[in-house]
Amino acid sequence: MEAVRKIELNKRQERILQIVKDNGPITGEQIAEQLSLTRATLRPDLAILTMAGYLDARPRVGYFYTGKSGSRLLTERLTKLTVQQYQSIPVVVTDSSSVYDAICTMFLEDVGTLFVVDQQSSLVGVLSRKDLLRASIGKQMLETVPVSIIMTRMPNLTICYKEDLIIDVAKKLIEKQIDALPVVKNNNGSLFEVVGRITKTNITRAIVDLANDELV
Ligand code: ADP
Repeated sequence: MEAVRKIELNKRQERILQIVKDNGPITGEQIAEQLSLTRATLRPDLAILTMAGYLDARPRVGYFYTGKSGSRLLTERLTKLTVQQYQSIPVVVTDSSSVYDAICTMFLEDVGTLFVVDQQSSLVGVLSRKDLLRASIGKQMLETVPVSIIMTRMPNLTICYKEDLIIDVAKKLIEKQIDALPVVKNNNGSLFEVVGRITKTNITRAIVDLANDELV
């Protein structure tokens, strides 16, 4: 398993940060002097601290402390992530498909949520694992009952757009206690075309990316 890179700064970076906090604005040359190191040795550390947003550099002035804490910087990054960066391909079935077919699609496509569309490819419903499980323990004929009978339907669907923020999608998933949202395009009026799928897994990936990229 790939290890998640630590967000922590190393000892030297911590010392540089402290020096800039106490003495900034300060040139790279002066920081190097205080640490009895060469300017070249410090270059990667200064680059990291600057890219990560802890320090800012101005020509002919030097480095100064931005005053932003690690968690504040992380929040800034998190609140910039959008759905289109993390969405997956949607898996859809038509509203006339049988419950049996939907179960097969769920296994074959290896997803936990299916989106249901009508003949015009407009979003009309959502099917979760438990929706299909519930239908399966009843006395219904799985081969003949259409998914439109058991799905959660419009206008009760929670949807999102590709420009939406990941953090807002995460809040909706928690608030509605669901696993996935269809990413839609509004074609006309109340008709939505399904263009993507965003799930708890996508959100988890975003968090891991943030941790990995924190100091890159
Ligand atoms: P499961 O039912 O397998 O635990 P979910 O928590 O995602 O999976 O679904 C819970 C219920 O919410 C189901 O009845 C499902 O149809 C419905 N649901 C799932 N996703 C949505 C959505 N985006 N909008 C509205 N309802 C949804």
